[in-house]
Amino acid sequence: MTQKNDQTAHIEPVRLSIKSSFSFKCHPGVSCFTECCRGANIILTPHDVIRLKNRLELPSDEFLAIYTEPHLLEKTDLPVITLKHLDDDRDSCPFVRDDGCILYDDRPTACRYYPLGVASLQHREGADDDGFFFFINEPHCKGFEEECQWTVEDWRQDQGVDLRDEANAEWTDLVVHKRSFPPNIKLTEKAKQMFFMVSYNIDNFRSFVFDSTFLQRMPVDEATLENLKTDDVALFKFGVRWLKSILFNPRKPEETTGNDAQ
Ligand code: SF4
Ligand code: SF4
Repeated sequence: MTQKNDQTAHIEPVRLSIKSSFSFKCHPGVSCFTECCRGANIILTPHDVIRLKNRLELPSDEFLAIYTEPHLLEKTDLPVITLKHLDDDRDSCPFVRDDGCILYDDRPTACRYYPLGVASLQHREGADDDGFFFFINEPHCKGFEEECQWTVEDWRQDQGVDLRDEANAEWTDLVVHKRSFPPNIKLTEKAKQMFFMVSYNIDNFRSFVFDSTFLQRMPVDEATLENLKTDDVALFKFGVRWLKSILFNPRKPEETTGNDAQ
């Protein structure tokens, strides 16, 4: 998933594999403590939004309105969201305080990966779309001067991103798949709205599933249905499978995509 920092931030183009090793440690004693929580553009994954809105006890639409900004993801034309900065002189994250992150246990995936980035959503001209890792190489980050050895694999496990990546896996596949579409194949506005709702506005998607004719068109067994009523992550995964069926259904492309060439 995309990481901290603006798309224009300089990023060391060193490709890391899961077995690559590096030295890094972040702790309250470093001179740069919380520097990385200021002036960063943090793209949120769907799983991040679920964790954050539940932590803050907000409906997903309120969380989106208060804390996020929408964008279009380069090369995909798909909507993504970033955490909104505070209106202070350092563009601080709304959740940072002098003694650290107030929702550390539920911090976004990008914050957990840092100082690593993941290529899957951080597309750049000329890069391939396979998942790989790289350093977000910010001069202010002193964590690289600490003596603590990691492999990328160990870091992911330590930070809990392996589990989060698993929860987002089918969604990430869908985004990467969309990127491989020819540029003249575009999603309709309605398709983009559906993508946004499933990805980020899970409470609205629940209403859409249960308060419309959705279940008449897409029957679900009783046990699954009960689960979808209360489990946001299960509902999100269900939604992604539905999105795949409507966005990339080769039999009905005209219903969900517009083709400039037609
Ligand atoms: S969510 Fe927490 S860890 Fe991430 S930038 Fe904000 S304060 Fe820092
Ligand atoms: S800049 Fe680097 S070392 Fe400093 S707080 Fe952030 S991650 Fe830790």
